[in-house]
Amino acid sequence: MSGSYGHRLEFGTFVTPVNASPDTPVALARRSEALGYDLVTFSDDPDQPAHLDTWTLLAWVAGRTDRIHLAANVLTTPMRPPALLARSAASLDLLSGGRLELALGTGESDRAPGGLAAVEALGGPALEPGAAVDALGESVDVVRAMLDAGDPAPVRYRGEHHRLDGAAGGPLPAHHIPIWLGGTDPRLLRLVGVTADGWLSTLDPATPDAVRAGNKLIDEAAREAGRDPSEIRRLLNVSGRFTDTRQGFLHGPAAGWVEDLLPLVVEDGVGTFILITDDVATMERFAREVAPALREAADRALPAPLPRTAARSGAVRAKRRPGIAYDELPASLADRAVEPGDIDYSRVKSNYLRGGTPGLVLRPRTPAEVADALAFARAHRHLPLGIRSGGHGISGRSTNDGGIVLDVGELNGIEVLDEARRLVRIGPGARWTDVAQALAPYGWALTSGDYGGVGVGGLATAAGVGWLARKHGLTIDHLRAVELVLADGRVARASETENPDLFWAVRGAGANFGVVTAFEFEVDEVGPVGWAQFALDAGDPAGLLTRWGAAVEAAPRDLTSAIIMGPPRMGQPAVAQVMAMVDSADPATIVAQLQPLADVAPGYDQQVVITSYASVMANASDAPHQAQGEPISRTGLISHLTPEFAAAAARLLTSGVVYFFHIRSIGGAVTDVDPDAMAWSHRGSNFHVTAFGRHRARLDTLWDDLLAEHLSGTYLSFETDLRPERLTEAFPPRTLARLRTLKKRYDPDGLFRDNFAITPDTASRTTP
Ligand SMILES: Cc1cc2nc3c(=O)[nH]c(=O)nc-3n(C[C@H](O)[C@H](O)[C@H](O)COP(=O)(O)OP(=O)(O)OC[C@H]3O[C@@H](n4cnc5c(N)ncnc54)[C@H](O)[C@@H]3O)c2cc1C
Repeated sequence: MSGSYGHRLEFGTFVTPVNASPDTPVALARRSEALGYDLVTFSDDPDQPAHLDTWTLLAWVAGRTDRIHLAANVLTTPMRPPALLARSAASLDLLSGGRLELALGTGESDRAPGGLAAVEALGGPALEPGAAVDALGESVDVVRAMLDAGDPAPVRYRGEHHRLDGAAGGPLPAHHIPIWLGGTDPRLLRLVGVTADGWLSTLDPATPDAVRAGNKLIDEAAREAGRDPSEIRRLLNVSGRFTDTRQGFLHGPAAGWVEDLLPLVVEDGVGTFILITDDVATMERFAREVAPALREAADRALPAPLPRTAARSGAVRAKRRPGIAYDELPASLADRAVEPGDIDYSRVKSNYLRGGTPGLVLRPRTPAEVADALAFARAHRHLPLGIRSGGHGISGRSTNDGGIVLDVGELNGIEVLDEARRLVRIGPGARWTDVAQALAPYGWALTSGDYGGVGVGGLATAAGVGWLARKHGLTIDHLRAVELVLADGRVARASETENPDLFWAVRGAGANFGVVTAFEFEVDEVGPVGWAQFALDAGDPAGLLTRWGAAVEAAPRDLTSAIIMGPPRMGQPAVAQVMAMVDSADPATIVAQLQPLADVAPGYDQQVVITSYASVMANASDAPHQAQGEPISRTGLISHLTPEFAAAAARLLTSGVVYFFHIRSIGGAVTDVDPDAMAWSHRGSNFHVTAFGRHRARLDTLWDDLLAEHLSGTYLSFETDLRPERLTEAFPPRTLARLRTLKKRYDPDGLFRDNFAITPDTASRTTP
């Protein structure tokens, strides 16, 4: 007796791909989805003139359904070169949102005797049954190599039936595509045990022990190969008739079906039943009366209820990092967690600028799940913990090596709460380009940063210096309330009237106080804007900076600008890029406000358009973050770009140490706010200066020697120097003292420490 293998119990349908009425199999697939089936499958008989081509049908059905998983039952593998099959599978999996499963066979089976002859007749290879199984095994190897997540190396394979000489890997599928093998040939069953994720067979009531015998062979082969047999899902095609009275196996009322199928679950470990039928009434009755009752009966009969999530294979478990209790993850997080061996790992391990190799990425979707994730993190206090929203952190280490990443990217809703008050609720995982797009139809905008890919969570807990700063202030100036999960797992709301101390701290030092799960902002009415990009002669960098700074300070608040400079390049003129937004739709006003900027140096190129804020922010890529390494930067705030500062900046630029030098304008409306109103208190600064270099010590030395004396305070979002002075520059003494007191109250054990950790004030008394 093999017993249960502990897989979630799933149900599918097996539909004939008739071509006489091609809409019929599609309609049956859609009906299967509506009825709650997990899977729809179609037979693959390439020599059957009455059938549609199965792969084409799968692709079509993928486009006509939303949720249900799809597979052939089973694919005649010798007709499909495996490298091409892998590309097709990955492509369809991507297009369907991770819903393709691969069920492969030799073409020959009890259901399709003579299949190998049919393959040969269709121009496929001439194979004896034994060789056909060997060829299938090689196909599995090739498909796996091609689908192997995150390995861009060319694929080489030397087999008897298949060879690859450096084939370029195909697209990365959306999910780990399981490979199930179909058939009952003992050689095939051993192959299942050695390599497959599942075994698919058809139940013959005349030979009821065939499933058990097959399982025995598979389990033995799996153990010999060092695998745990429970990694292998057992899938069974079944057919029967619903009648009022019990007349035989799967021939009677629904209760009788449940009785017949239950031993197959409890004793033979079947995890998926696939109902062979093209009859809608049978499909409906099975879905409504058999499937749920069988689930309940199995949970009652088994020592423990069947899990709701899939078990991880030995190969995935082998890549686990030490010190993480992977198997103790709460069910709420387990099915969406990503580990180093998972297909999604290469998509979630790194940030936009930072490479990472975390041991576990948790992806909660609700505040309660965030609380679960934080409880798990508290039990792993010895490991680094990254909190990630949009993954654009420069200061924060929202990815790490071997630690835990709590990724709230899917908490990304954008909802208008009160149109009259322009009150909008935004999830931390939304990106600023999404926010701008969502607000544009209302004629609104929320001042953010300059890059649309940045996440709301990291920026709106720090400050938010962007293209509307001088007119509309910082992003945090628009915050009216936040909801966050605190270090101890409590869910809190903070505003001017609820937990006002916490609300004060979140606006500038939010990363230290919790995981924000929702922000409520009052946004501005913003119509069309003027958007300018100038390429200016930077041959005199000090003069250029001084003149640009003066022009920006003299400009009306409508105008916000930034300048980017780099090191001199041999044989090329020095060029600075100046960008500016003018919050006005009037061409004359735009030109009048831009002209003084354009005049600060001779120009090489200029472009001015009247456009929308959303268009300017539509500059983000949707590709997963793939960064390597660590950014190296220094940053600071300054009131005026004095000639002395500008001369020092010019020396920094010619040193060869800095490859990207960026000054953003602040000032204007930012100065209207009381410096004590929130944790970000540098209200007098008109400019924010950042330099990126390739060498930590050389950048620090030059920055400290040349620029530091001109700067007053810093905006931590662009800082990567971890020396403690940076914290005291970011927060003046009174602000830092208050933050340390609050840190003791809200995060006394320093759970949130990946982004310039504030040490709790151990001297102060704690207020509960
Ligand atoms: C290309 C680029 C352009 C930028 N331009 C601007 C700009 O114009 N103006 C500006 O002000 N900034 C700008 N930034 C800096 C940016 O604001 C910060 O890097 C910000 O932290 C990124 O937020 P994120 O959610 O994308 O990053 P993440 O990497 O997800 O998070 C960064 C840090 O923020 C904290 N954090 C994230 N989510 C939460 C949460 N939900 N609750 C509490 N803490 C959280 C964590 O400590 C984390 O380490 C830019 C960054 C980049 C890479």
